[in-house]
Amino acid sequence: MNKPATKFVMYSGLNTIGGVNASVTYGKDRVVFEFGSAYDPSTAVFDGKVEPRRSNWVRDKLRVGLLPRIDGIYRREDLGDYPLVSAEESDVNTAVFITHLHLDHMAFVGTIAPGIPVYMHRNAVLIERALEATGEGVETLEREYRDVVPFEPVRVGEIEVLPILCRDTSYYDFAFLITTPDGTIHWTGDLCLHGTQAERTFAQMELLKAKGVDVMLCDCTSFMDGVMKLMYDTLDPKAIKPSPRVPAGMLAEKEYYEGLYGHIRDCRGLLVFNYYQREMDDAAQFIEWARMSGRRCVFEPDAAYIVHKFFGIKPDVYMPDSPRYAPENREDWLRELLGSCTLVTNEEIAQKPSGFLLQNSYRHIMELFSLPAGDALYLHADGIPIGEFDPSYRNMRKIVEKAGFDYVTFFCDNYFGHGYPCQVKYFVDEVDPKVLIPCHSHNPERLLPNHGVQLLPRMYKTYVLENHALREGAPEDEDE
Ligand SMILES: [Zn+2]
Repeated sequence: MNKPATKFVMYSGLNTIGGVNASVTYGKDRVVFEFGSAYDPSTAVFDGKVEPRRSNWVRDKLRVGLLPRIDGIYRREDLGDYPLVSAEESDVNTAVFITHLHLDHMAFVGTIAPGIPVYMHRNAVLIERALEATGEGVETLEREYRDVVPFEPVRVGEIEVLPILCRDTSYYDFAFLITTPDGTIHWTGDLCLHGTQAERTFAQMELLKAKGVDVMLCDCTSFMDGVMKLMYDTLDPKAIKPSPRVPAGMLAEKEYYEGLYGHIRDCRGLLVFNYYQREMDDAAQFIEWARMSGRRCVFEPDAAYIVHKFFGIKPDVYMPDSPRYAPENREDWLRELLGSCTLVTNEEIAQKPSGFLLQNSYRHIMELFSLPAGDALYLHADGIPIGEFDPSYRNMRKIVEKAGFDYVTFFCDNYFGHGYPCQVKYFVDEVDPKVLIPCHSHNPERLLPNHGVQLLPRMYKTYVLENHALREGAPEDEDE
């Protein structure tokens, strides 16, 4: 029998922000990494108004191209007559790996047949379960997850996946180094070299240099027009000089958060913030800012429940005027929360508006009309709707204005959450992979390799890794 070859296929995420989805197969063993969606509310089929169907929930997403068309992943009953081999019929031994709990990396994990192991860090699972309890989780079958232990390799047949730790707070962040008998494939996950734990990413770089990387998939989100023009005044990637440092005029994560605190320190009225409720680092930051500024940090029930489960604390709770929270409609999670937390009323807030830092979600933004607007500030702290590209964004601005709140956004031109172009280029040059696949970006072509070749793979095309060299697969290499 011939020795099996290592096959690599990318399904999505080359030139979108997120939605990276690829597989590495060796013989009958297969590793799939990430199962998210490229977030774009302006083109989303399911725009919040179109309802996902019940028995067609998986095949509709395949039909409109949201889900990857991969054999042996979905249940037959979910596929119906959609022409894919189901998980039950497949003889491929598959495991799925998730780097972190962002929807562009994991939005569709719930569609995977429960018999297929999905590896996701236990903190991410804890947050996901809390989101599911409040109805904000991913659409999902009942399923279990396997924990990702930092630097503890997972074997899937002859394939080994090494989870490289990039951040050890909140839901944890990982990169994956995948090794087969033919060579190594690395996926950076979200790459950040200016975060408060940037030293982990530089350690990752040294580890990769030592091991040698044949194929590297690298996040280059920041190579977009806006950042390029701001930093280099040109879109020519040759202007990007590799450097580990934060470029002049731009901020590191720590400086960025220190700057944001100024808004809170200087505000003399009520502070309302709209944040992304799965970000436990941000929740911890707001709780800390409240302590520093002598305010009470108060959360809406849904966000409070996640904070409660994650940190094991009893946050103060503000109850929006919604039928969801009416006594006769209260679900178990809400009763559990209210059993241990203190409620803060509108009257208490009105008596001393400057004593509160209050979380407000877009769905309950009408609460602003019941809150004291004098000297009050609405902090848009990366919550939904995130930016101009979302039609709801203008509506949010309009409501904030009508309610009489001043508006401050955490978005700032000279801060970017992913690695800056010069840093990403430095990381890639140092590791010097034989084949570089820039991805997770509107402009992957702008990340140029040092000595290796740049590959912008065709989606669904099989590439073969043999003796540490990657080549385009011949027709006989394609899956039967
Ligand atoms: Zn991402």
